[in-house]
Amino acid sequence: MRKPIIAGNWKMNKTVEEAKHFANEVKIAIPSPNEVDVVICAPALALSTLVEEADGTDLNIGAQTMHWEKEGAFTGEISPYQLQALGVDYVIIGHSERREMFAETDETVNKKVKAAFEYRLTPIVCVGETLEERKAGDTEAVIRKSIERAFSGVSQSDVEKAVIAYEPIWAIGTGESASPVEANAVCQFIRNVIKENVSEGVANRVRIQYGGSVNENNIDDYLAESDIDGALVGGASLQALQFLHLLGAVQRVNNY
Ligand code: 13P
Repeated sequence: MRKPIIAGNWKMNKTVEEAKHFANEVKIAIPSPNEVDVVICAPALALSTLVEEADGTDLNIGAQTMHWEKEGAFTGEISPYQLQALGVDYVIIGHSERREMFAETDETVNKKVKAAFEYRLTPIVCVGETLEERKAGDTEAVIRKSIERAFSGVSQSDVEKAVIAYEPIWAIGTGESASPVEANAVCQFIRNVIKENVSEGVANRVRIQYGGSVNENNIDDYLAESDIDGALVGGASLQALQFLHLLGAVQRVNNY
């Protein structure tokens, strides 16, 4: 039985004060960690405050990217060592916006995944196809390549601890989402790739989220699918009440 994981990706939104306010509003109302893991992936500036606010609560804090080196001359970057020292638990790796706008590649994703495990951070590894790739029927080939490269040389036990986020690029921030059935089929395909490359046990246990225009009207349908273990949510994670409603999806789906 895989525990669902719902993560908000705030992207480049919120001041530190706004982040603190949000944490105060949601932290008392978060469902039990026996039911669902809850993560906020915030801008680097707000991480310190959020880790303090989340201390002793069931809210987990994540970064949105990092470098793979421990320290050094990498102006503007933050390192896994710094994130670990701060008490951050998760880090998004290979988000399509990082791939498209900041030259992230499958190779740098692989280095970062390994670095995350070295510093005991849980990577949320993002994969997804563009609209052109989808139209050309290349979705599976693109996903296979990204998964195989992201986890190349990563131990079985670490692959199992990772979270994978299937985020079709054409569905991000567009209001256009993959149907639950379509998204589930790709998540099943990802599990198959893990089965072929790692093991059946790891494939059955690794958690796979869907991301791309998830909101309070559609999250229950995604979570009801067999191979979708949660959501990575952008725009709909920014308001505290809306985010709490998303978290309620796990209970709603279990009660169907
Ligand atoms: P939206 O939920 O705003 O489409 O963003 C999805 C996303 O990129 C989460 O990482």
